[in-house]
Amino acid sequence: MNTLAIDIGGTKFTLALFEGGRMTRRESQATDRQQGREWMLGRIAGILRNWKDIDRCGIGFGGPVDFQGQRVALSTHVGGWQDFPLSQYVQDLLGVPTIMDNDANVGALGEARHGAGGVVPLFYVTLSTGIGGGLILSDGSVYRGADSWAGEIGHLTVQPEGPECLCGARGCLERMCSGLWMERDYGRSASELFEDPAFVERYVVNLALGLKAAIMLLNPARIVIGGGIAKAGDALFVPLRAELGRQMTAWSGARVDVVTAQLGDDSVLWGGLALAETIS
Ligand SMILES: [Zn+2]
Repeated sequence: MNTLAIDIGGTKFTLALFEGGRMTRRESQATDRQQGREWMLGRIAGILRNWKDIDRCGIGFGGPVDFQGQRVALSTHVGGWQDFPLSQYVQDLLGVPTIMDNDANVGALGEARHGAGGVVPLFYVTLSTGIGGGLILSDGSVYRGADSWAGEIGHLTVQPEGPECLCGARGCLERMCSGLWMERDYGRSASELFEDPAFVERYVVNLALGLKAAIMLLNPARIVIGGGIAKAGDALFVPLRAELGRQMTAWSGARVDVVTAQLGDDSVLWGGLALAETIS
């Protein structure tokens, strides 16, 4: 059984082919935010012209997805995706069954099955252009809530008087801690900023406020953090764990097990494989 996995993000999109449980092909290209949806779909179709023998497809999309309807709700970073039936589009293009979820849910599945998981419930956070979250329940399934909008940790308010987020609210976790805003606010990339201990000290306070809310509400066995910013490694994780230790409610016995994703740039691709395996 050959599975195509597609990861569509705010800075790049990646396609991978799995033959059984082995990744045998992978191609990644930069997202052009100005060109929008049609351009990206054209690029994806161009790559797939040379990829044969695909049996099914799993997609992780970098933005909110109506899972029941299998439609992209929107992308706040790339234009033209409003209410787009991406699953149906790929199904028509390739003639194979296709399933899609937002990239944080798919990344959560990938890490739980093939990466830094091994324990459940597991909460996965993607720290990237934006910030998303995905919860894997004790039976290994994704918790999507009543209307497939669960896990959106990026829009928890951490600074009520803070600057305005793309969603219109103030001081969202995503507004304070995502890669897009770090570059806009400071004019430097995340990797440069993490070399500055004074910056990191302020940064982890906001990030820990968001993670503390997840821990108090969900008591996950582990929090796995993926996305480009998690590549900062110990420069981020050591001060983050210390700050979480300071913030956690004293009487709570909830574990604070926060680790970096093991699949690096491929959490969503491996999750696309796991999601496609749910197609009956
Ligand atoms: Zn927001």
